[in-house]
Amino acid sequence: MDHVELREGSRVALLVPGSVEYVDLVMSLLAAGMFPIPLDPRLTAYERDRILAGLSPDLVVDTPELLASMVRHTPAQHRRGVPRGRPMHVTSGTTGTPKGVYSGLLTEQQAAALVAEERDLWGFTATDVNLVLSPLHHSAPLRFAMGTILAGGRIVVPGPFDPAAVTAAIERERPTTMFCVPAHLQRLFAHWDEVGVPDLSCFRLVAHAGAPCPPPLKHRLIASFPPGSTWEFYGSTEGQFTACRSEEWQERPGTVGRARPGRTLSLDDDGTIWCTVPEHARFSYFGDPEKTAAAWRTTDDGRRAFTVGDLGRIDEAGYLHLDGRREDLIISGGVNVYPLEVENALRELDGVVDVAVFARPDEEWGQRVCAAVVGPVAEASLVAHARERLSPPKRPKTWLVVDELPRTSTGKVRRQQLSRLSGEPPQ
Ligand code: ATP
Repeated sequence: MDHVELREGSRVALLVPGSVEYVDLVMSLLAAGMFPIPLDPRLTAYERDRILAGLSPDLVVDTPELLASMVRHTPAQHRRGVPRGRPMHVTSGTTGTPKGVYSGLLTEQQAAALVAEERDLWGFTATDVNLVLSPLHHSAPLRFAMGTILAGGRIVVPGPFDPAAVTAAIERERPTTMFCVPAHLQRLFAHWDEVGVPDLSCFRLVAHAGAPCPPPLKHRLIASFPPGSTWEFYGSTEGQFTACRSEEWQERPGTVGRARPGRTLSLDDDGTIWCTVPEHARFSYFGDPEKTAAAWRTTDDGRRAFTVGDLGRIDEAGYLHLDGRREDLIISGGVNVYPLEVENALRELDGVVDVAVFARPDEEWGQRVCAAVVGPVAEASLVAHARERLSPPKRPKTWLVVDELPRTSTGKVRRQQLSRLSGEPPQ
């Protein structure tokens, strides 16, 4: 193998499954002032090459052996040390090509603020045991794992998501915290319906984010875990916007909470969400100054705010409700249709297990509302239910019944894929 010299500022791509050593390496690189780039090891060669070409890393760690050897050779002062920057995460690519989110090196003060912020919000302590069940190339589970280790706690990584392995880890390790995306929770509860629910009393914090959590799932989550332990937050690879306790959600069903400390939320006329962030939470899109410029703006009082293109509403007490992504908004006959609103209405029909609403081009209406539904449910009942709950422009005109929805490894529905699927002629 060629000799590679790593130094401050070097970029190191990680293309291996998550493990405790994986987190160790990420933390060592950050403590040494380098930029780990956690990537999905299940990317196809085509996807991987496209991402790597854009990020041009100095080294690609693509075998567990190389990972283990790097951890073994980590200088003592960098082992599980204080990060001098944030990992360079790549977004899920739900709306197109994944983007590399880059924040440069932090000053000592900013680095300390970064660590303190997560610790204070989630209350990480040395007695915490964090169960890692979402992929570590996703920013949120990695932040939870690192925050736990920096507070002196430990992490448990049962491997690629598998409900049986997660259940066994809960019984064996008695974790105190976990982060998950709603798609994983759904699969976990389906598994527990078959084998029984393990004792969940060990948990003090169960946080979810990354995609809308269907209300029935949310109710079950709150009822299953210890009172006060469930939290939702709204964030993205780029930054964290809100946090929401279960009691707040119960008072205002559907909210994703209020702005996190140090942040302010505001809306554009069209409902686009903007968020001001502290200094240590600034970012740019690697190698894409135009995209970066479009994501940031200066507010009237001179602060810097960014958007990732989500739409929402803020109530009088400052609670945010998400309406979905700007890219997913369907404009049918000039009427704005929010897929999330239509999905929530359709979920209320018995037999609907999962649902995604998306657009297809339409000569007459510009865009046509389409729905893909999982579950034992007849199209006639769906049509009747939609007629009862939704005004005409919001009613899906095309229905697909599918075995499961196509999702990214971070649990997000691939609407573009559904849109292509529904364009195929019937079999
Ligand atoms: P890309 O930007 O490449 O299309 P992505 O934005 O899907 O990828 P992530 O950064 O992993 O990649 O996802 C962040 C998005 O997930 C948010 O912008 C928002 O749309 C959605 N999201 C996050 N938290 C929540 C939540 N609690 N409820 C609903 N949606 C959420």
